[in-house]
Amino acid sequence: MASVSWSPSSWRSKPIKQAPAYPEPEKLSHVVKELSRMPPLVHPNEILALKAHLRDVAHGKAFLLQGGDCAELFDYCEQDAIESKIKLLLQMSLVLIWGTNKRVVRIGRMAGQYAKPRSSPTELHDGMEIPSFRGDILNGYRVDQRQIDPSRLLKAYHYSAATLNYIRASIASGIADLHSPLNWGLGHVRDPVLKEKYSAIASSIQQTLRFLEAIKSRPDELQSVELFTSHEGLLLEYEQPLTRLLETPPTPPAFPASSRAPSPTVSNTNDESSTGAKQLYFDTSAHFIWIGDRTRQLDHAHVEFFRGISNPIGVKVGPTTPTSDLLALLRMLNPDCEPGKITLITRYGANNVEDLLPKHIRAVEDSEYRRSVVWQCDPMHGNTLSTPSGIKTRRFNDIYSELQASLRIHKAQGSYLGGVHLELTGDAVTECLGGSEGLEEDDLSINYTSFCDPRLNEKQALELAFLVADHFRS
Ligand code: PEP
Ligand code: MN
Repeated sequence: MASVSWSPSSWRSKPIKQAPAYPEPEKLSHVVKELSRMPPLVHPNEILALKAHLRDVAHGKAFLLQGGDCAELFDYCEQDAIESKIKLLLQMSLVLIWGTNKRVVRIGRMAGQYAKPRSSPTELHDGMEIPSFRGDILNGYRVDQRQIDPSRLLKAYHYSAATLNYIRASIASGIADLHSPLNWGLGHVRDPVLKEKYSAIASSIQQTLRFLEAIKSRPDELQSVELFTSHEGLLLEYEQPLTRLLETPPTPPAFPASSRAPSPTVSNTNDESSTGAKQLYFDTSAHFIWIGDRTRQLDHAHVEFFRGISNPIGVKVGPTTPTSDLLALLRMLNPDCEPGKITLITRYGANNVEDLLPKHIRAVEDSEYRRSVVWQCDPMHGNTLSTPSGIKTRRFNDIYSELQASLRIHKAQGSYLGGVHLELTGDAVTECLGGSEGLEEDDLSINYTSFCDPRLNEKQALELAFLVADHFRS
């Protein structure tokens, strides 16, 4: 149970990693005040609906697809970039629904993924040491914009709002209508074999929908889709003012009609009225936020902040996570063992997964948290490498291999790999090596546009969806 001493600002009394040194404290407090006045970006009913979906994932009844840029830039807040990412996530989820025979929960790393942890506060540029780029929410990538500017926190709110607005508008306007999956812009799938495979799946889904329609039993959830938003909750000066004590309905919200959120059982309640309505703290900057690999120390600020909010949350787990920390983290962040509350995002690297994942699975699944966490594989972050010429990249085969091993290990351990967490973009970038296009080192310079980690392009991302689908169907 979260102790009474928790508040949205109690993290301030704890040691903190990756904290920026703001140059203008007065400007920062003005910005924070302004942020606390702004309306929530997402609604508690939506947050609770996502938590209910994630409970289904934890129980093996649904699958979670989460993806987007490593570092979202303010510049990505434009129609084409937003649409291509939504379309890619929807295309992948079609493949996954077909493969898993389960509902797919979609979360974009979008509309707020602006803050980046860095291994070093500075970097060398033309022989000069300059501050590292820490994400658009703090400084600019341009060499003359590397000073931290607190007014960027407010800009981040507005760019999030505009992105979220267009996501909601596109979805409400039928971008996702499963009646016409072939209108989703398959033209960008250039590989004829992949295109044929995908078209076959799309038409098989269409046939199924027509059949369901004919017998008048089409599930509500196929009429429209949901896309939730997420980011790393790194910058607590931003998350705190958007964390609000809000009323949850006594009767769980129907959002959408098909998904009933459970009565909240989280314990950061401040008030309970005679009608059963509760007031809980929600971080309204996104539906889902996660704690990164560098900031999950048990007695530090990020864990303190996260333990008090009612959102479903993620925790990155890697080679540096001791098994004992894993259980301590779960007990701190989810003392009531609420299913779906915590997603463990594992990122070991293809060479470490066989050794480390089984131990972590046993620790959790042999404890009181059995079947209450969502296990999600992030096959990206343990597989980053530099080419001899210094370009940051990842091999498609390493990504594929960690994901395949994770699927196999979970099956062997009797647990359920409930999701994937990917860095991807809807554009034809050349940032990861391999895949069906066979991208080689020399090709990386053709269209390398990431300002942080290398992302899968649309074709490589779809291929991974086929891999997961094949696993579930075989
Ligand atoms: C990320 O997801 O972009 C990231 C920085 O990951 P991790 O915290 O796992 O290194
Ligand atoms: Mn990354």
